[in-house]
Amino acid sequence: MTASKIQDAQPIDTLIVGAGFAGMYMLHKLRELGIGAQVVEAGSGVGGTWYWNRYPGARVDIQSLEYSFGFDAALEAEWHWSERYAPQPELLRYADHVADRFDLKRDIQFNTRITSAHWDNTEGRWLVGSEADEFWACRYLILATGCLSVPTDVTFPGIETFPRPIYRTSRWPREGVDFSGQRVGIIGTGSSAIQSIPIIAEQAVHLTVFQRTPNYSMPAHNGSIPDEDIHARASDPRGYRAASKDTPGGFQNFGNTALATQTSPDEIRAELERRWAWGGFRILGAFADTAIAPAANRIVHDFIAEKIREQVADPAVAELLTPKDHPFGTKRPCVDTGYYATFNRPNVELIDLKSDPLVAFNAGGITTAKRQHDFDAIVLATGFDAMTGAIDRIDLRGVGGRKIKDHWAEGPRTYLGLMVAGFPNMFTITGPGSPSVLTNMINSIEQHVEWIAECLASLAKRQHASIEASAEAETAWCRHVMEAVTPTMMPQANSWYMGANVPGKPRMFMPYAGGLHTYTEICRQVAAKGYEGFVIRNGDSVLSESHDFTSHPPMPDIPEALMPIIIERLMAAGLMPAA
Ligand SMILES: Cc1cc2nc3c(=O)[nH]c(=O)nc-3n(C[C@H](O)[C@H](O)[C@H](O)COP(=O)(O)OP(=O)(O)OC[C@H]3O[C@@H](n4cnc5c(N)ncnc54)[C@H](O)[C@@H]3O)c2cc1C
Repeated sequence: MTASKIQDAQPIDTLIVGAGFAGMYMLHKLRELGIGAQVVEAGSGVGGTWYWNRYPGARVDIQSLEYSFGFDAALEAEWHWSERYAPQPELLRYADHVADRFDLKRDIQFNTRITSAHWDNTEGRWLVGSEADEFWACRYLILATGCLSVPTDVTFPGIETFPRPIYRTSRWPREGVDFSGQRVGIIGTGSSAIQSIPIIAEQAVHLTVFQRTPNYSMPAHNGSIPDEDIHARASDPRGYRAASKDTPGGFQNFGNTALATQTSPDEIRAELERRWAWGGFRILGAFADTAIAPAANRIVHDFIAEKIREQVADPAVAELLTPKDHPFGTKRPCVDTGYYATFNRPNVELIDLKSDPLVAFNAGGITTAKRQHDFDAIVLATGFDAMTGAIDRIDLRGVGGRKIKDHWAEGPRTYLGLMVAGFPNMFTITGPGSPSVLTNMINSIEQHVEWIAECLASLAKRQHASIEASAEAETAWCRHVMEAVTPTMMPQANSWYMGANVPGKPRMFMPYAGGLHTYTEICRQVAAKGYEGFVIRNGDSVLSESHDFTSHPPMPDIPEALMPIIIERLMAAGLMPAA
């Protein structure tokens, strides 16, 4: 950065990057505390995920009563969701409503993409630059850049030779797309594809679905909000919200403590049918051992495979749509409306790219090993460079000019998913190493924003000191993130949680699998112990210093019967001494 750019940099206490739900609430919270803050956002409006992902069928897959802000009782009371799982346009209206209600837009600069952020150790500040060469000098930098905001860079041989439109679900045109009378191809069968395929199939004259890996999908049973939820929230709004947050996933899933491996087949069937009928993610909580014991996981897998066979008329197609390469729940499961039944339509065709690989795009469409497929339009639903993608794309340099890319060369290292050693005064909202994508993210966002705000308020009281995660605490936290996931089967899947969908990305399980409730308590204890694991400085003087992280939770509520498997896996991973 040149001296003139540094001189011209606009001074600000706190710069927040991103105006999704995280950046919006962060701004509101800092204003309440009287801390100066400005948001910069690449898009032209608020809403983040719900601003960019306008594909047909886009909707939330956690009930809207829970996937919405709980920090303001009046906001909660005045907003009425139209259905259980709000669609994208309604979520975007909600984001706009929140922004207008709290007058946030006056401190959000839109159409501004941050491309660099360098720590200036002499002045104790961040120098942050945009694509358009605008600069800010801020004491604190908060990255609210989103876990799923950067699409993967996938490309295909010959893609440039296809002369008709190619759409990405994650960058869908604002004016929408009308596929009537068109032959459409869609690549991908993750969540965005599973939501959009039934709707595109209704419009298109023919839809070809190119599948690399099938995913598990549960029916949403979308419709009006269940009376039991309306009643529970109306009678005790604070209690309803607290009950959501005090769960592993940040939503009320009524996790069963019984083990599938110790339950009779009739009771298993009744439990699974009940949860399937309720819809959404509820089946994830059917038994306490499905994430850990292969036999229990297989029971749920077999149940879902049977449900797929019931919905898909052609047994060969049903077989192709049934996941085989990963245990249930080890990749993010999907929630659908009519996905499997769509394959019964005469105008829908499934191409299995494992047995018929994609060769190239061409002027007509796509060639696979077996034949040519001609299209008027192609849709790429090829996923995201999750959790680290948005941060990686910023030229981010900490103390001594160390690049975040180098610090994260073997996978993202953070302390609590909130800070990175050697990157003082820089916070990540729902960063890698926090529960984030394993949860209802609005609740995780609220927890992070409130923790960061409290931390900044406490630093303000100490003459705006600087804070930095210690290298030792960061190492201990990374180990704890491994300890939390190793007992589960999650590391067995080639998932985006592991970075496996991006060629060359280091393989490491990125989110914290210990649960939001456990994690919130850890963060609370860290703060209560005077920011354990952090070094707080004012200029050259150290105000408080702790290099340890000791706020480990006990093993959260693990049934005794599972301990042998857990111990064996921890030992095999070197996370527990061999007996
Ligand atoms: C299709 C889809 C469906 C989802 N469904 C669910 C769901 O059902 N339940 C759930 O809990 N979560 C869901 N998520 C996750 C979702 O991302 C979060 O729920 C939540 O919206 C994240 O909010 P955020 O503010 O942290 O990030 P985002 O909403 O991603 O916002 C980040 C913002 O930062 C901006 N930004 C990034 N980098 C820069 C930069 N360098 N300069 C300037 N601006 C930048 C982006 O433009 C974006 O607007 C879904 C995600 C996707 C993609």
